[in-house]
Amino acid sequence: MTPLETVTRFLSLTHSSFVDGQPSTASRGDVIAVNDPASAQAISQVRLAEREEVDRIVESARAAFVAGTWSRARPADRERILLRFADLVEAHGEELAQLETLEQGKSIHIARAIEVGGAVEYMRYMAGWATKLEGQTLDVSIPVPTGARYNAYTRREAVGVVAGIVPWNFPLMIALWKIMPALACGCSIIIKPSEETPLTVLRVAELAIEAGVPPGVFNVLIGRGSVAGAALVAHPNVSKVSFTGSTAIGKQIGTAALQNMTRFSLELGGKNPMVLLQDADLEKAVAGTLMGGLLNQGQVCAAASRIYVPHALKADYVEALSAAVNGMKIGPGLDPTTQINPVVSRRHQGSVLQHLELARQQGATVTTGGNAPDLPGYYVQPTVLANVEHHMAAAREEIFGPVLSVIAYDSLDEAIHMVNDSQYGLTASLWTNDLTRAMDLIPRIEAGTVWVNSHVPVDPNLPFGGYKQSGIGREFGRGAVEAFTELKSVCIAY
Ligand code: NAD
Repeated sequence: MTPLETVTRFLSLTHSSFVDGQPSTASRGDVIAVNDPASAQAISQVRLAEREEVDRIVESARAAFVAGTWSRARPADRERILLRFADLVEAHGEELAQLETLEQGKSIHIARAIEVGGAVEYMRYMAGWATKLEGQTLDVSIPVPTGARYNAYTRREAVGVVAGIVPWNFPLMIALWKIMPALACGCSIIIKPSEETPLTVLRVAELAIEAGVPPGVFNVLIGRGSVAGAALVAHPNVSKVSFTGSTAIGKQIGTAALQNMTRFSLELGGKNPMVLLQDADLEKAVAGTLMGGLLNQGQVCAAASRIYVPHALKADYVEALSAAVNGMKIGPGLDPTTQINPVVSRRHQGSVLQHLELARQQGATVTTGGNAPDLPGYYVQPTVLANVEHHMAAAREEIFGPVLSVIAYDSLDEAIHMVNDSQYGLTASLWTNDLTRAMDLIPRIEAGTVWVNSHVPVDPNLPFGGYKQSGIGREFGRGAVEAFTELKSVCIAY
């Protein structure tokens, strides 16, 4: 079958949660449509799990964990199966990319290069951790009774059943950010995708089984956040919640997880600054703003959305940025000539347009964009807001759409004050060739990632996460893997 034929067949089914290595046979639960954001038409449908089904999925994941086929498998066997899983995702990459563009709306280029291509690199990196988990040998200083001798060491053990709760902006990639370290460590995992974008992770679950991941180790829960998601987080047999989503829901999840002392990590929202210094290369900064601010229609937690520019550069920067944004071609993600595609849903389109209306009311100037174009899907024109001031919502609230707020500053101290005077602290970027200035400013910025002359790269080897209300914990790198383990101390008298 060609990728298009496979996608068409997959879309024609009514999908359910994935449990014990196959689609759930439960018959209760509302069936809802999955829409194509480019046409606003239904393309597939899913049945939402009710509370009892959550219990069944957790039981399956827990039974698989206790049975030990995966959790106590030889690390080299886990690594080999996970590498095969990555190979299968790569081999089915075109099909997954098309499916992602159809359910989420994003450009097919981004779906191929980032959602699938980037995720496959990440999968291979994480597969390698299965054989590299380690503890330490430690000397003890207080032998009891006097004269006793001890050998002490630590070991990393899989934390248990993991609930991975993911948003709709990069549904496949962010799910794999949780699936891979959990499986590398020997955990069982239940992924709860957004009800708006449930399809790709269901297809990937089939590929995991084909690769050799035992049934019950990797499950998918399709359901509403407030029902199935909340029941999953509150379940006493879930040992860790790894959540990516909004700050508001993250707070609810942290509060619920604490009731059972369930471990949790939170990757939340951002209102990420770009700071142009006086010597910034304007051409590079404009290209960097398009990439850092409008990728995936700005529906990126790390996206640049407030741009601080010295007064002296502002007019030139706004003119060049507005001209570049104005020239972007809008249309469906499957059309490879387009640069701006729909946002995920009618509801989200309405939310972005409301933010634009508020920005106008508060005195911002729209230099380009500002409305929904006359197209059938959920589109928002890419928009530049000039004359934004620090107190305005456009400088402070996460819009999560194709909207760039430009704010002028007098001194670098004032710029850094505005950068840090935010509830968020996910990413930031500095645009300068003055190395000394950049090195002075980097430690002053309250953000989990600071880029210089770029605003985009995330890498499996670079920890990623938020200061302040942008989250708790980090994804990527050794620390992220270790967050799927418990640390056990062992002390042996001899
Ligand atoms: P959201 O918080 O509304 O939903 C995220 C997920 O949580 C969905 O699967 C949803 O069904 C589920 N959920 C909702 N209520 C729940 C509850 N009470 N209990 C359990 N689960 C529940 O976020 P969204 O609108 O899907 O995504 C956009 C947000 O995600 C933005 O704020 C964005 O910044 C953030 N995000 C952060 C990162 C990061 O790495 N920091 C990455 C991507 C997106």
